[in-house]
This record gives sequence, C-alpha cells and structure tokens, in this order.
Amino acid sequence: MPGYQHPCRYCGELAPADAAACPACGKVNPCGDLRCHKCRAPVKETWKACAGCGLKLETVCPKCGKTVFLGDYCACGARLGEK
Ligand SMILES: [Zn+2]
Ligand SMILES: [Zn+2]
Ligand SMILES: [Zn+2]
Repeated sequence: MPGYQHPCRYCGELAPADAAACPACGKVNPCGDLRCHKCRAPVKETWKACAGCGLKLETVCPKCGKTVFLGDYCACGARLGEK
C-alpha cells in the first residue's frame, strides 16, 4: 500500500495526506487542516477569527464579491488570501 490517502476537499479525488497540492485539480492544501493565513494556526470554517492571532477569518472574494470564510479558495474557485 502506498502512503495514506485522503479525499481532496475540492474535487474528492484521493491525494496523499500531506500533499502540498491535489494531483487531480491542482488546488493547494487539498486535505490538510485549514490554516490561518497570518500565523498558520489551524482554523475551522465556522470560526469568525483566528484563535492564535485574532485575524478576521472573513474576506470579500475578489472574483465573486461575496463575503466568505478566509480559506485557501472561495466556493467560486478564486484563490483567497494571496497578498
Ligand atoms: Zn482535488
Ligand atoms: Zn492566526
Ligand atoms: Zn468567490
């Protein structure tokens, strides 16, 4: 058996648990914890602010204009949190 595999949170294809990007859809961090963009502490999609540094975990998507959780991607596919 190869390494432990997890379904990608974006496309559902299996990827190594520690994959930096999904081999199927190319999105970064496909199955690891969501992390704060500032302090890298693990965060949850239900949180309004990071428990580690207080960063507001809501952002306006640059593509669709919706207020969304500050994860790696918006539901519309836009990359979030890039500086
Ligand atoms: Zn994927
Ligand atoms: Zn933080
Ligand atoms: Zn969007």
